[in-house]
Amino acid sequence: MKVVVCGAGAIGAASAFYLTRAGVEVVLVERTGVACAASGKAGGFLARDWCDGGPLQSLARRSFDLHATLAKDFANPWGYRRMTTFGGARTRGPTSSLVDWVGPTIGIAQRLGDVETTAQVHPALFTRGLASIAVNEGASLVNGEVTGFLREADGRVRGVVMEEEHIDADAVLVAMGPWSILAAQWIDLPAVYGLKGHSLVFNTHDEIPPEALFLEYRTVDGATVTPEVFPRPDGTTYICGLSGDGPLPVDPADVRADEDAFARLLAVCSDISPAFGESRVIARQTCFRPVTRDGLPLMGAVPSAPGAFVATGHSVWGILNAPASGEAMAALITGAEPAVDLAPFDPARLPPIRIDADNFKPTYARGPSR
Ligand SMILES: Cc1cc2nc3c(=O)[nH]c(=O)nc-3n(C[C@H](O)[C@H](O)[C@H](O)COP(=O)(O)OP(=O)(O)OC[C@H]3O[C@@H](n4cnc5c(N)ncnc54)[C@H](O)[C@@H]3O)c2cc1C
Repeated sequence: MKVVVCGAGAIGAASAFYLTRAGVEVVLVERTGVACAASGKAGGFLARDWCDGGPLQSLARRSFDLHATLAKDFANPWGYRRMTTFGGARTRGPTSSLVDWVGPTIGIAQRLGDVETTAQVHPALFTRGLASIAVNEGASLVNGEVTGFLREADGRVRGVVMEEEHIDADAVLVAMGPWSILAAQWIDLPAVYGLKGHSLVFNTHDEIPPEALFLEYRTVDGATVTPEVFPRPDGTTYICGLSGDGPLPVDPADVRADEDAFARLLAVCSDISPAFGESRVIARQTCFRPVTRDGLPLMGAVPSAPGAFVATGHSVWGILNAPASGEAMAALITGAEPAVDLAPFDPARLPPIRIDADNFKPTYARGPSR
């Protein structure tokens, strides 16, 4: 069996990895660069039980365990580690805190997770790691833009069209993150939106222990932002928490920050801890997470296009849920029983939209938060 996976973010890379392990001939097609988008610029935070009680519970729990297994099996080149996680808020004056490395006005009063329930990976290293293991085990990585699908007269999808070539396949998996919406030109797909986020990475050496923070922060101009702080084992600290309003550009290489976004985020960061000063910034990042209308991933066979599958819309949990999503999609495509029930994520639950390439106006939506 031969499968083309469109998009080498965390979801495409994990799908390529598990398909290759299942003995499938895989071609992973990436337009811009492996992990160039949200999968390279996310926090990489993982939680075992934060999705409990909702449709994501089984997927998240399975994926949390698979992360531990993958790190062990492949000598952990992507900085997987367990963490303690705290919640807090900025206060009006000096306050007490459960952690000792934050500024005087940051009150940390809640323990949200411990080393049994919360962990992290470096998302770019994780995504590139899975893609390269898949390639070492026989998958091909092709640099190019998917611009259409090959269809049989009866509508069956039998490969993809690229700018200067086409690739025949028995099945095609759309895993292009928010750009999966572009496939609605060729097949029936529900809407997928891109929600913009900004992040900064600081060089913090060994000053910050493995303690993740989720904060509520009221800025001087009265806005509430929710910074998430993830110290990494490589001596850096990642902080995100400022959404953006800009629309999704058609080309992933054209993603740009909102004006002033980094200055605003930096002002918040340097208040969280003196360790997050401007001279410590080593990366300014902007990306779009894929969201659907009901906030759940789209994972399954595409109705009315036999041979086509989709896996996207993972919103704030795409790094956490990549392993179990890839594993489940590989099972579905090869006719095996998926380890988690994919019914809540069936693309048929939402109405398809049609987009016309000539009139394509990228849109965005406010998605659910963690
Ligand atoms: C600021 C921020 C912080 C986050 N933090 C976390 C976190 O801590 N934990 C967590 O679990 N999740 C987190 N997320 C969510 C996570 O990043 C996403 O859910 C996940 O990365 C989505 O992965 P993806 O593979 O679906 O999409 P993407 O990473 O967007 O990958 C899609 C790929 O498709 C490629 N592509 C596009 N068009 C084409 C084409 N025509 N042909 C071929 N390839 C194409 C793109 O170049 C891209 O590489 C965060 C997201 C944001 C924005």
